[in-house]
Amino acid sequence: MKTVLTSEKDIEKAAEIIRNGGLVAFPTETVYGLGANALDGEAAKKIYAAKGRPSDNPLIVHLAQASDAEKYAYTSPLYYKLADSFMPGPITVILPKKDIVPKSVTGGLDTVAVRVPVNETARNLIKCAGVPICAPSANTSGKPSPTCADHVMHDLDGKIEMVIDGGVCDIGLESTIVKINSDNSLTLCRPGAITLEMLHEVCAQVKTDRAIEEKAEADAPPIAPGMKYRHYAPEIPVIIIDGNHECARKYILEQAEKQKCGALIYDEDIPYFQNIPYHVIGSIDDMSGAAHELFDALRAFDERKDISLIYAFMPDKSGIGLAVFNRLIKAAGFKIIRTDEE
Ligand code: AMP
Ligand code: MG
Repeated sequence: MKTVLTSEKDIEKAAEIIRNGGLVAFPTETVYGLGANALDGEAAKKIYAAKGRPSDNPLIVHLAQASDAEKYAYTSPLYYKLADSFMPGPITVILPKKDIVPKSVTGGLDTVAVRVPVNETARNLIKCAGVPICAPSANTSGKPSPTCADHVMHDLDGKIEMVIDGGVCDIGLESTIVKINSDNSLTLCRPGAITLEMLHEVCAQVKTDRAIEEKAEADAPPIAPGMKYRHYAPEIPVIIIDGNHECARKYILEQAEKQKCGALIYDEDIPYFQNIPYHVIGSIDDMSGAAHELFDALRAFDERKDISLIYAFMPDKSGIGLAVFNRLIKAAGFKIIRTDEE
């Protein structure tokens, strides 16, 4: 299949591809999505094939407006409270699904994840298509999510009909996912740019799924099924160094004398890393910047042939830092070394 790389000028063609059961990758404020008609079970199956995604890992249904959720899911007052505060925007809400949504979209679950993107191109595509668009991130399953059209072409060229280039994604990490529980509390299933602190302002009771910080046990079904798979990972193994920043830096520099490694560092570290391959993810005081740069940096390491290991610092877990931390520990397969206990 020839993949057409184009811009928003071809939005009508893209909408037609979606209506006809094909696949289009498109920009959103979080990461690029790989979209299909969410009401067409066969089209959704093509997403799993193109990505090599396990069929029990559900897709997010993208809507033009929050109230469209009524057609596909059973909503609640708490859903509309979240919608009033955060939609359109980088939040996904898990609700009980209506029969119209095929089970191939929800990975066989009785719930459906809905999201209203704020990105103009994404919204125009959903409106033009006239159908809800189910979309996971537009990467090969297990790889870091794509934050620009180049990343999408790298993974999916020849496997999908079209890629709409809308530049670099504003946020760079996937949406925050929350589940509304029957007791009107929320469970945070995946951290993102809508932070735990922001959710607390809308709902007094927000639980955090353990799988955000810990390796899910093989037999415990996670609430967000994607959490059980190795994720966001470059080919080269990643190890996170925890502890005081100076101690961690010293540890990495010592290791670099013994082995061919690279480092994921902050602006402030640059003077120390002149003899080691590195990628910078912004200032240590700016976790939004780190979120924006993280996946691009992990992908850039994969282009290098001169290293066999990547060291990264443990990020600050407040605000969007929790999302950076969550993606990093998954990229690292939960390999963390503490340095300041000696
Ligand atoms: P992606 O952003 O590519 O990982 O795709 C969507 C993610 O949303 C999945 O991996 C799940 O973690 C989550 N998700 C989608 N639908 C549901 C659902 N019905 N229940 C729980 N989690 C969901
Ligand atoms: Mg994904």
